[in-house]
Amino acid sequence: MPNSILEVDVAIIGGGGAGIPAAIEVARVGGKAVVLEQADSCGGTAAISGGGCCIVGTPLQKTQGIEDTPDLAFEDWVKWGQGAADEVWARFYLEHTLHDLYHWAESCGAKWVDMKFQEGNRVLRWHRPDNNGLGLMTALIKTAESLPNIKILMSTTAGQLLIQDGRVCGVTATNNKNETIEIHSKTVVVATGGFNSNLDMVLEHRPEFKKSKVMEGSGFGAKGTGHKMIRELGGYFTHMDHIWFYVYATPDYRDPQGRRGLVFRLTPGYIWFNQQGRRFHNESLTGGASATPALLRQNPPHAWAILDTLMTAKMEVADPYYRDGDKVRKDKVQELLDGSPYIKKANTLAELARKIEVDMESFLATIERYNKAFDDGLEREPEFGKSLKQSKKFDTPPYYAIQLFPLARKNFGGVKTDLRCRVLNKYFDPIPGLYAAGEVAGMAGGHINGKAGLEGTMLGPSIFSGRVAGAWAAQEAGFGPGFVGKPNRS
Ligand SMILES: Cc1cc2nc3c(=O)[nH]c(=O)nc-3n(C[C@H](O)[C@H](O)[C@H](O)COP(=O)(O)OP(=O)(O)OC[C@H]3O[C@@H](n4cnc5c(N)ncnc54)[C@H](O)[C@@H]3O)c2cc1C
Repeated sequence: MPNSILEVDVAIIGGGGAGIPAAIEVARVGGKAVVLEQADSCGGTAAISGGGCCIVGTPLQKTQGIEDTPDLAFEDWVKWGQGAADEVWARFYLEHTLHDLYHWAESCGAKWVDMKFQEGNRVLRWHRPDNNGLGLMTALIKTAESLPNIKILMSTTAGQLLIQDGRVCGVTATNNKNETIEIHSKTVVVATGGFNSNLDMVLEHRPEFKKSKVMEGSGFGAKGTGHKMIRELGGYFTHMDHIWFYVYATPDYRDPQGRRGLVFRLTPGYIWFNQQGRRFHNESLTGGASATPALLRQNPPHAWAILDTLMTAKMEVADPYYRDGDKVRKDKVQELLDGSPYIKKANTLAELARKIEVDMESFLATIERYNKAFDDGLEREPEFGKSLKQSKKFDTPPYYAIQLFPLARKNFGGVKTDLRCRVLNKYFDPIPGLYAAGEVAGMAGGHINGKAGLEGTMLGPSIFSGRVAGAWAAQEAGFGPGFVGKPNRS
């Protein structure tokens, strides 16, 4: 017997990028929603994310004279996805980004502040919210908290979906006091995120990584628990091997299990070396479509990022331990540089080469050539064409070598859903009462992106599909018309 029973209209599992918007949709049409969140606060991976969303035709684009349309974005999207994007979902998302993401998030209190160029886009369309993912999610969470029909149960982990007469009718959960709760609902939305913080699952879908090192790199809650719940009911999973790996990450030496990686950013001056002491890529192209394949072609498939002391000045580490709210903890970053066994430090480049055991002659000659590009006043270094605008010469010891391994970060595959976010079984029939949104559904629909995703096409579709799932789960529970939205077709 459970310790307590809770009756609601819609149960939502996961209080992150998709779950919170789903709850808002349910409550706004008068349904009663509960959000189960295993962590002690909501936000999930979305709250630690860069917050960038791919959005089309916005006022921010107009202020910069950028003409963008869903057609143009769709072409970029499909091309980037290497033929594997779900074109119906991609179109659905892109046509709704202006009103149903940009303006909708603003109506919840979020603010879009600037845009950044991202590989694969012909125009600027990666929109950054104020204070990144944390700022965006804080606004959405506050909106959810202001709606009386939403109950948020934190530190509460969902266990198993409940079934009656072939319909999903609730879920079991356990809180941090070890009390069991049975939630009885008319419909359930699974919004538990991806599985890239579960190395076993990553290796199950990408077994080739068993022979080299790969690190866990999503939010702490991205363990694939929702995948398991849905699989038990016969949900159809697709494109599960489409995992997005990043390369600018080093093992988290504080992780007792040695599985997590730390992404570090804002080191534009660094260059990467393979174990043979050679550069292999234009280091300013850090995206998963170009940098990761380049790293994986090396033997062994790891690299050393070389920095001098001045290059570490703005370095950020994407992990809560290295931040205090939105401020970087410089002392902690230095602690990492000094304390990690995966980071070597030396007063000369020759000593550094010895410590990381790369071919000394090639290593030193490469750095000399790189430095000479500055002496010659070049805009780009000749070897790979990296812009030198934000870089500098290697001339300020001590020098650092940070060991890089691939880091699993985003799942482009997941459970297949229809355009209402109803979970489909292997016959492509909806499983009654069950919805899925966000990364558990490959960001939306099962595989909205394909083999590669333009940046900003993970969080945006997660929020959007969360809204769609919430609206239709409410409709099935007897509230509202389902998702209506407003396309920005001209
Ligand atoms: C460092 C980083 C930066 C990123 N930056 C960007 C970016 O700039 N742009 C972009 O488009 N994408 C970005 N992403 C990806 C994006 O953040 C995610 O794809 C998105 O947040 C997925 O939303 P979600 O709701 O599916 O999952 P989440 O936001 O992770 O939410 C899932 C929630 O479910 C909870 N949960 C899981 N299992 C259970 C359970 N059994 N019971 C209860 N609760 C559970 C988790 O604790 C979590 O809070 C980034 C990812 C990372 C890791």
